[in-house]
Amino acid sequence: MLGAGVSGIYQIKRLVDLGLDAIVLEADEDLGGTWYRNRYPGCRFDSESYTYGYAFSKELLNEWHWKERFSSQPENLRYLNFVADRFDLRRHMVFDARVEAMRWDERERIWQITLASGETYTSRFVITAIGVLSIPVMPRYEGLSEFEGEAFHTHRWPNDPVPLEGRTVGVIGTGATGIQVIAEIADKVDGLFVFQRRPNWSTPLNNAPISEDEMADIRSRYDEIFARCASTHGGFDHLPERRRFWDVTPEERKAHWDKLYTTPGFAIMAANFPEIFFDEEANREMSEYVAGRIRGRVQDPVTAEKLIPKDHGFATQRLPLETRYYEAYNRDNVHLVDLAEAPIERFSPRGIRTTAREYELDLAVMATGFDAVTGAWDRMEIRGAEGCTLGEKWRDGPRTYYGLMTHGFPNLLMVAGPQSASGSTNFPRAIESGVDWVTRLIEHVTKSRITRFEAGEGAEKQWHEEVITAQERMLVRRARGWFTGYNANVEGHGEGTVRYLAYWGGAPRYKERISRIAEEGYLGVEME
Ligand code: NAP
Repeated sequence: MLGAGVSGIYQIKRLVDLGLDAIVLEADEDLGGTWYRNRYPGCRFDSESYTYGYAFSKELLNEWHWKERFSSQPENLRYLNFVADRFDLRRHMVFDARVEAMRWDERERIWQITLASGETYTSRFVITAIGVLSIPVMPRYEGLSEFEGEAFHTHRWPNDPVPLEGRTVGVIGTGATGIQVIAEIADKVDGLFVFQRRPNWSTPLNNAPISEDEMADIRSRYDEIFARCASTHGGFDHLPERRRFWDVTPEERKAHWDKLYTTPGFAIMAANFPEIFFDEEANREMSEYVAGRIRGRVQDPVTAEKLIPKDHGFATQRLPLETRYYEAYNRDNVHLVDLAEAPIERFSPRGIRTTAREYELDLAVMATGFDAVTGAWDRMEIRGAEGCTLGEKWRDGPRTYYGLMTHGFPNLLMVAGPQSASGSTNFPRAIESGVDWVTRLIEHVTKSRITRFEAGEGAEKQWHEEVITAQERMLVRRARGWFTGYNANVEGHGEGTVRYLAYWGGAPRYKERISRIAEEGYLGVEME
């Protein structure tokens, strides 16, 4: 197995329970994946904590107390360590084990795995649990090596405390990460320059502590909560609005949005009128509502306008949730630098130079995102049965069978793979379905003495078409963000490229489809 993050921890638990000889190779020096790496200030869940925890064990659910509705990174990492220790999983993990290459050996029907250290392993089956946002990308500006201050990507925020007091900090990027960092450090730094290329829509997280009593209540309702998550499109604990958008008056719609704006988490998406995701008019009205909220929170009207997206509608890119983000711009020490007006030219020894001026900085934080979904696969040389690499097969975008396997690469399974529902729905809920499916398949093939399985080419093509159809129905199809594989910092992923990275048909449909495949004897999977 590759990866000891949220998916890998659960997957190894299931494999160990089956009595298989299994290990996890983890590139980092410890477990936790996303929650090990992203230590930047403000980093926290935006799914309700109690829907993020694993559902598979009653003991875990009973023993763990989530302290906040949206728990912070240090607590999340403690939780993952608690799970690993509770089930003694650490002894199945090898750390500092970055897989560089994997080659399928057709004669032996095994994978030959080579680590960056040169060490090698062989395995009949390989399961990847390498995350969807695990490869950070730096902006491609000249002069970064000459910059005399500190500079790092949020994903590489140092383990040792980074002083903020008395320093002038620049943050490049206003995605979910940038928005969390900016809001958290605005009142701690001397000066903060936010380098914004395009604004994102963002709405309040509405976080709050969870008391002992509330936690006891949540524990008593876990079955109901998980059942509700399983029944909703996005896998969240919020039921969709049943009234049709156009059947209610604008005043009724506004009253509903007023309620959602102060409801915790992704309610503003998940409990909204579904039309806002499909119907341009409906989306425009919703966008105008949120724009009004931003205008109401940012004192300077020029800054407010700059913070309102004009190039995409509400929630058509991944929606960041915020805590007093907009209020940060009302502070005298926080300055929005609009890169649409004056783009960055380069880094200088003293800071960042735009076409308008130089900004002197002590610390430059790159909240510039990830080579999303396929990035972790592209960094390895995975050579399959037909001699080509996975990178070559996926050059114009991934092709998979339900995001679980890919034709030409036998005995290779993916948890949260490209074109699954993991990236488009509540991640932990989605990966549990993926892990359960993969485990069931592994159990089936090991019991049946099957030594080779592979997604059929036709079956994979059919799934790819469904993935395209689902994406094309939604306004998300036009997004220029990681949902559609857009990233100008990654070679070949810039303007004019659309990738089909996620399944947008919803968590229940996805789960029902993959369950049916298993029940019908792994339809579409060729087994020998
Ligand atoms: P992101 O959404 O891809 O945002 C990257 C930001 O950097 C964008 O604003 C982008 O601008 C900007 N940028 C990139 N290159 C730039 C350049 N060369 N010059 C100036 N600006 C540049 O990345 P992210 O914020 O790290 O978030 C990625 C995903 O991680 C999220 O969507 C979410 O799924 C996940 N996440 C989750 C949480 C959570 O609460 N659980 C928190 C953080 C992240 P453009 O838009 O113009 O490209």
